[in-house]
Amino acid sequence: MAQGQASESVAPARLVIHNIGLLLSGDIGNPILDADTVVAVNGKITAVGKVKNLDTASATIRIDAKGTTLAPGLIDSHVHPVAGDWTPRQNQIGWIDSYLHGGVTAMVSAGEVHTPGRPRDVVGLKAMAIFAQRAFSAFRPGGVRIHAGAPVIEHGMVEEDFKDLAAAGVTMLGEVGLGSVKDGATARQMVAWARKYGIQSTIHTGGPSIPGSSLIDKDIVLAADADVIGHINGGHTALPDDQIVALCEQSPRALEIVHNGNEKAALLALRTARELKRLDRVILGTDSPAGSGVQPLGILRMISMLSSLAGVSAEVAVCLATGNTARIRNLDCGLIEPGRVATFVMIDKAQHSPGKTVLESIQRGDLPGIGMVIIDGMVSAQRSRNTPPATMVPEVVKQ
Ligand SMILES: [Zn+2]
Repeated sequence: MAQGQASESVAPARLVIHNIGLLLSGDIGNPILDADTVVAVNGKITAVGKVKNLDTASATIRIDAKGTTLAPGLIDSHVHPVAGDWTPRQNQIGWIDSYLHGGVTAMVSAGEVHTPGRPRDVVGLKAMAIFAQRAFSAFRPGGVRIHAGAPVIEHGMVEEDFKDLAAAGVTMLGEVGLGSVKDGATARQMVAWARKYGIQSTIHTGGPSIPGSSLIDKDIVLAADADVIGHINGGHTALPDDQIVALCEQSPRALEIVHNGNEKAALLALRTARELKRLDRVILGTDSPAGSGVQPLGILRMISMLSSLAGVSAEVAVCLATGNTARIRNLDCGLIEPGRVATFVMIDKAQHSPGKTVLESIQRGDLPGIGMVIIDGMVSAQRSRNTPPATMVPEVVKQ
C-alpha cells in the first residue's frame, strides 16, 4: 500500500499528440482509425480518438502532429545483435541508433550468432543467451527495445536445459539450423521442449547464409514446426517456389519475410499468404547485420517494396511490421490501443514524392519521411537523419 501511495503523489508524465492527419493502427483487421489525438500516461496509451471527445488538458509533453501520420513504431522481427550498439559482422558502431532513424523502435534477436568465439557447448550457449537477455534488457540505444538472448540449439541439449533457460528469463530460441541441429526430428523435439516452457522458436529457411551454414528445406521446416518460419524468402538463397507455397499452405506458423532475402521469393510468399487470406501470419525483419551490411531503412524499404510490387495497400503493409509482429512475438508495442506502450513513428510524404498522400507515395514505391519517433511516451528522435525529408514534421509545443 505504501508503494502505491508514493507513486500516486508523483505527477504522471502525460503525453498528448493532437492534429494527427492519419492514424495507422497496426491492426490488420482495422488498419486506419478515425481519430486525430492520442493520449498517453507514464509511457502507456490511455486514449485514442477525436480531440473534442478527449481530455487533453494538463499535458507534460504536447505534440502538434501538423497533420502528419502516426503509426506504431516499427518492429524488426529478425536481427543479429552482439554487444550493445556494436556489430562485429561489419564492424560498425551505432547501427541500432541508425535503425531508430528508420522508424524501428523494437527488435527481436534471431540469435547472437556473430559473437566472436560463440560457444557451442551446452553450458556455454546457455550462459551466452542469459547474458544477452540481461545486457539488452538494460541497454536501449536511443530507446530502442532489443529483445535478445536467443540461444541456438545444439546436439546434447535435454529438456532440463530449456526449463533452466526459461527460468532464467530466456523467451526465444535463435534460428534453428544455425547450430549442429539440422535434422527435423531433433529440431522438432527441442522446439517442443522450448514451447513447453514458454520459449518461442524461429527456424532458418533456405540455403546457407554464409560459408559453414547449410540448407534447411521445406521438409525440415515442416518437421521442426517452429513458431516462426524465419526468412521464408531465404537469407539470402530462397527455396524453390513450390516449397515456399507449400510452407504457406501446409504450416499454420508465422511467415517471416526479410530484407536480406530474395525479393522475388518475398513477393511470392506475400501473394500466397494473401490468397490464403492469412496476411495476419506475415511479419517483417531485416536479417541484419549481415553480409550485405546493416539497413537502417530496411523495414521501411520492405513496406514500400511489398506495397508497390505485391499489391498490398500501404496501411496493410505497415501492419506486417507492427501489429502482426507484436501479436506473434507477444510484444507490448505495435498497436495503437489503450494499454499498449506509447511508441510511435510519425511520417509524412517525402518531399517531392509524386504521390498525393503518404499512403499513395508508399504504394508508388517511395519511402516516407520520418518526422519524429516516440518511445514509451518520450521523444527519441525528431526529423530522421536517414529517410528522405518529410514534407511536414510534428512539433513539440510543450515540454
Ligand atoms: Zn537465417
